[in-house]
Amino acid sequence: MKLGHHLKECSLCPRECKVDRRTTSGVCGVGYFPKISNIVLHKGEEPPISGENGAGAVFFSGCPMKCIYCQNMGFSQKGIGKEIKLDDLIHAFRVLEKEKAHTLDLVTPTPHLPWIVEALDSLKNEGFSLPVVYNTSSYEKVDILRELEGLVDIYLADIRYTDSSYGLRYSKVPDYWEVARKAIFEMYRQVGPYRDNKRKGLIIRILVLPNNVSGHEKALEFIAHQLDPSVPVALMSQYLPHFEAKKDPLIGRKITTEEYEKAIEMMLELGLDGWYQTDEVERVTARGVDWLL
Ligand code: SF4
Repeated sequence: MKLGHHLKECSLCPRECKVDRRTTSGVCGVGYFPKISNIVLHKGEEPPISGENGAGAVFFSGCPMKCIYCQNMGFSQKGIGKEIKLDDLIHAFRVLEKEKAHTLDLVTPTPHLPWIVEALDSLKNEGFSLPVVYNTSSYEKVDILRELEGLVDIYLADIRYTDSSYGLRYSKVPDYWEVARKAIFEMYRQVGPYRDNKRKGLIIRILVLPNNVSGHEKALEFIAHQLDPSVPVALMSQYLPHFEAKKDPLIGRKITTEEYEKAIEMMLELGLDGWYQTDEVERVTARGVDWLL
């Protein structure tokens, strides 16, 4: 197994817990086997990810980040999910292909990579046809990302903060922007900007947080001036102050229309392409896939 040694001494993500996952778990809370919370055809992702039929979204349990406002708290931080074996994972990916999912959308995959890489290696040899989406917070190590070259078609990469002190305060990681910046350059090196005709490339997601805690203005400038202005950007407005965030003086509220419009304006002024949300956009519900039958 290519990344199997990390199951004995895990350094898959920048936390570098170095734990033996056969007997314990590290910060992410993931043990030895892959753990999945849900598998759905998800119509709420960006158009190139969801297409007409929905993204074949596999929501993995556990996460190296500990965002206090995480809308997926149940499975990202509280361990909800089902441990499965490699054969089940391969079967799930095949079912999504059979269901005509638009892509295989791996959500928070990092702690599960040894199994994912093994599954994809075996499926790609059999002509697996779905573009593989690596849906990530961007809190990733460059050396681990290099191991994914050729396996991942689309990197759907967040920029959560451009000021690491907010990363520490709200996601309990000390070095978010330094790490994410390098990771994004590596993802870009592998696949370039997203292009529809290739169904391949990098897309950057920015969740706008109140009071510019997300540092979205700096993030947009980074994309335009340091990365590549042709990388599509998904500017998201749906932040809600869940859990601990409710009491926070900076992020204890939704973003205002003015904050979001200012972010859109800046995105357009910088000549960036991509998607932003309007009042007319409906949230489309996901359909569960009977993947273990
Ligand atoms: S994947 Fe989990 S166990 Fe491994 S280094 Fe990251 S947080 Fe620690």
